[in-house]
Amino acid sequence: MTKKLIMANWKMNLGLKDSIALASAYQEKFKNFTKADVVVCPSEFALSGVLKALKKSVALGAQNVFWQLQGAYTGEVSATMLEELGCQYVIIGHSERRQYLSESCRLVNLKLKSVLGNTKITPVVCVGENLAKRKANSHITFVSGQIKRALAGVKFDERLVIAYEPIWAIGTGVSATTADAQEMHAAIRSVLKRLYKEKGDNIRILYGGSVSALNAKELLKTPNVDGLLVGGASLKINDFGKIVNSA
Ligand code: PEP
Repeated sequence: MTKKLIMANWKMNLGLKDSIALASAYQEKFKNFTKADVVVCPSEFALSGVLKALKKSVALGAQNVFWQLQGAYTGEVSATMLEELGCQYVIIGHSERRQYLSESCRLVNLKLKSVLGNTKITPVVCVGENLAKRKANSHITFVSGQIKRALAGVKFDERLVIAYEPIWAIGTGVSATTADAQEMHAAIRSVLKRLYKEKGDNIRILYGGSVSALNAKELLKTPNVDGLLVGGASLKINDFGKIVNSA
């Protein structure tokens, strides 16, 4: 397996000035860091500004993409446009987009195909169950279904990344336990192996949901946890620095 992948998702939290300031702090902190791949995903309008503040040690990612490449799609940005901007990664199907923008598995699948088919960008597909599904013990079936629908008709591609983000852990301060993560990541690995045989071992599976400077190390030691997707803690340079240094 390649290096761990640590991604910062700033969501819609920072304006342009603050995004550039935090990106400069990332650049300073990680300028000699090579142990893991570090990616920052600012909001779309700050992508260019943030890119100028970054050098090679931190890559740029977007939080969303549209599935068509060009045309009358007001407010949307295509995969080729993100690539032209300098994005190397893109998050697809984050639970907040599924919840607030009704993003379905079908759209996730279309977006994924557009990114893989038209660019060199690494797509990071988010999956994860809500609390009711976990309490009903249907979390594994549900997440396995999300993955199968997201990857329907998608050939193996070594760029593929899956991020397991249980909705009940996002922004709540209640992370999944390492046992929860281990169970789900193993289940995701077996879905990937069923789809892509032994090549499924090469797909990175990230964990996301209340990752902190305190739990990052344990999570990263968990089998099949190949990296982290970090929301709240990525807005604090010292916390994010500790998380990245746990890799
Ligand atoms: C996220 O939304 O991708 C996330 C993991 O958020 P947080 O770390 O704040 O739970």
